Amino acid sequence: EIRTRIAPSPTGMMHLGTARTAIYCWAVARHFGGKFLLRIEDTDQVRSTKEAVQVILDGMKWLNLDYDEGPIYQMDRLARYQEVVDQLLASGHAYYCYATPEELDEMREEQKRLGLKPRYDGRWRPENAKGKAIPEGVKPVIRFRNPDEGTVTWNDAVYGPITVANSELDDLIIMRNGIPTYNFAVVVDDWDMKVSHVIRGADHINNTPRQINIYNALGAEVPVFAHLPLICGPDGQKLSKRHGTVSVLEYEKQGYLPEAIFNYLARLGWGHGNMEKFSREELAKIFELADCSRASARIDWKKLDWLNQQYMKEADDARLAELVKPRIEAHGGSIEKGPDLAQVCALLKSRSATLEKLAESALFFYVDPKIDPAAAEAALASGGREALALFGEKLAALEEVTPENVYHCIQAVMTEREIPMKVLATPLRVLVCAADRTPQIDITLCLIGRDTVLERIRAALA
Ligand code: GLU
Repeated sequence: EIRTRIAPSPTGMMHLGTARTAIYCWAVARHFGGKFLLRIEDTDQVRSTKEAVQVILDGMKWLNLDYDEGPIYQMDRLARYQEVVDQLLASGHAYYCYATPEELDEMREEQKRLGLKPRYDGRWRPENAKGKAIPEGVKPVIRFRNPDEGTVTWNDAVYGPITVANSELDDLIIMRNGIPTYNFAVVVDDWDMKVSHVIRGADHINNTPRQINIYNALGAEVPVFAHLPLICGPDGQKLSKRHGTVSVLEYEKQGYLPEAIFNYLARLGWGHGNMEKFSREELAKIFELADCSRASARIDWKKLDWLNQQYMKEADDARLAELVKPRIEAHGGSIEKGPDLAQVCALLKSRSATLEKLAESALFFYVDPKIDPAAAEAALASGGREALALFGEKLAALEEVTPENVYHCIQAVMTEREIPMKVLATPLRVLVCAADRTPQIDITLCLIGRDTVLERIRAALA
């Protein structure tokens, strides 16, 4: 069975990189009809927070990344890690190390002085510790006994074959005060959870040979590894603090649709011909790790906006209304004051890059009109007053208020008074809509409603 997992640490935010990894893990599992797991790697007790866990859960939900198992918390599995550590201690693949931090600092300083790469020198390996007195008051850590010789090779599903010499690796700490370290816990978990494909950021490539050595020591089957290049800013540099460290939910706040972010992130670093827009189901069908790029991916915010715009355009109006309502309210609008929000969304969605932009451009429907006296005076000058009055008469006389009929009223006023559109459109915009910009004026007036429009015309002319 194909089994993938996303294993975020709740120490920072669930940022774009994690979200993209989760999407690929999900896609691989769905592609093969396998299982997708969520595991919370919360063993860093100093840096893990409940809030960060919640952001992960909310982010998964927002992106509609349904998992089949989990969330599994590593802190619930301490007994299991202890069991495996005991097994490694018994088989000679692990040992207690009593070196103090100060002592290790000294060791590294000395190595640096000699021009060597700092590296644990194995001083508490059983063969070196023979006869050595166990220092008092030092809590030992447990180290994995890394092989001294040979190499570790794996065929990365993205990067291809990678080989690392064991001489580059040292005996890493696998447990400290009963808490496993990342490299150890991740192996025990992926082994226990029968993960077939470990898909994660390329920042973990250095950890992989260490983990493979642990698999081997346990006699466990080594999974497929796939490392994903980092996501960079538009300039090819590391993502800025502003974008790199924010949670995916920040994009919800900014007004992006989850399906747009999903699509955008999926396409970032993976491609299928020149296909830019695809659904979750399509991605699951066509996704292959082999199509992931080895080059770091650059964020292109314009493209994200474009994609979001595409999804806005085809989004259901009632759904958009629901999403936009709190935003309009946050700007001081009240939905009861204006026309049916779904209709307004239908009118505005094809020209709004985000939900926030949609809310902003719809706001004038839902706030009491605030009219600037100077702008009002200017709008009524040079024929504006007469044009607006005549339009009011024609509108009042309409049998049925439809955009076409309203449009005909506007046309009729222009012809009868021999004026350009602007002379009437300006007072309509400034005095009736009280908006800097409006969508198509005939539709807008219909949405505001005849009674309100006539009332505002009367007030303007008074
Ligand atoms: N907790 C690790 C991280 O968030 C997981 C890495 C992995 O997938 O092995 O980076």
